[in-house]
Amino acid sequence: MKMKMRPVMPDIVTGARIDLGRLRASILEMAAIGATAAGGVTRLTLTDEDRAARDLFARWCADAGLTLRLDDMGTQYARYEGRDPSLAPVLLGSHLDSVPAGGKYDGPLGVLTGLEVVRALRDAGLRGRRAIEIVNFTNEEGARFEPAMVASAVLVGAYTADFVHHRRDATGLRFGDELDRIGYRGDAANRPGAIHAYLELHIEQGPVLESENLPLAAVEGILGIRWFNVTLRGQSQHAGPSPMRSRRDAMVAAGRIIVGLRELALSYPDPVVATVGRLRPVPGVINQIPAEVVMSADVRHWTDEGLAEIAGKAEALMRRIAVEERVEIDIETIQNVPPTRFDPRLVELLDASIQAVGAPSRRMVAGAGHDAKYMNDITPTAMLFVRTIGGMSHCESEEIAWDDARLGAETLLRAALRLAEEP
Ligand SMILES: [Zn+2]
Repeated sequence: MKMKMRPVMPDIVTGARIDLGRLRASILEMAAIGATAAGGVTRLTLTDEDRAARDLFARWCADAGLTLRLDDMGTQYARYEGRDPSLAPVLLGSHLDSVPAGGKYDGPLGVLTGLEVVRALRDAGLRGRRAIEIVNFTNEEGARFEPAMVASAVLVGAYTADFVHHRRDATGLRFGDELDRIGYRGDAANRPGAIHAYLELHIEQGPVLESENLPLAAVEGILGIRWFNVTLRGQSQHAGPSPMRSRRDAMVAAGRIIVGLRELALSYPDPVVATVGRLRPVPGVINQIPAEVVMSADVRHWTDEGLAEIAGKAEALMRRIAVEERVEIDIETIQNVPPTRFDPRLVELLDASIQAVGAPSRRMVAGAGHDAKYMNDITPTAMLFVRTIGGMSHCESEEIAWDDARLGAETLLRAALRLAEEP
């Protein structure tokens, strides 16, 4: 959350050089799979496009001399062996699936930068004490099969493999059947055992780094989330003959709640947010005061105490407005995701590595979920954010600057090699 300057750390990776041209070519070749006319990518998980992306990644890994494993979720692991194969590996991962009409960098930048890191080490004849494994997690996005991030969730025991294999897409196809169809169902025995650390490089997907003219950030954690489903019940009446002062209007209560939640979030510093994304009036006709409005509310904060506080204030605000508008209210908590706090030592290492490549460092908290959220439950984890042009993501105009990609890769190389050298 703050900027810090520290002395430059000694260059521990002399000899290993990131080849930006190779990284760029790999990202663009990957982006051609499922490419859209407007410059984006549609590569939903377990589709033919996803299979082609996996095949290409596997070929590049084999060419780089990496050993590939496939687990029962279809997650790919490409291992660059360490000097002591008995030690737990360092994992560098992200995902190759996309949302419909998504961008070229959300996911692939992390996977392919990881690949570039081991290509650079191999070219320099360098090998860490520990192995480095590049990970392509299946179905990070959750765009075809809900929920999102199921493959890392299974690794940490948040879902069973059976639960995930039985998820169905909108057309009724099963996750497990589609995994078989594309030939990417592996073995549970190939899941990672002990893991030394997990690092995920990802685009920021927001405007903060750009607004501060910074290329990179060390990510300290992920915002916790509370979701409410709110039902407001008033009196349905004809719009014409009902005097304003006698109404019990559920829609007016909903409108005041929307504005009130925005004001509540604005009373906190960034990155605290509150959002109403769904609103359904019943019956929803032009000349009738709605009898009922069903709406959502989403509040996010980076600490447990802060999340409990803003969620409590949001609930009190909604109840107060309901009383003032003389409508009944039901508030149901439908999702409660605690904030993720990444490993402070790894965040510090990324911070120092950013400065070592000559960039100013900044720490921030991620607003969206990533596989790193689950990995943090089983191994020391941190993320590295790369500036996203215009803050645009999950859209075809998603862009980065190649200089930022180079700085990100150099940072990841340093941090990964440092971790791989640890006894
Ligand atoms: Zn992503």
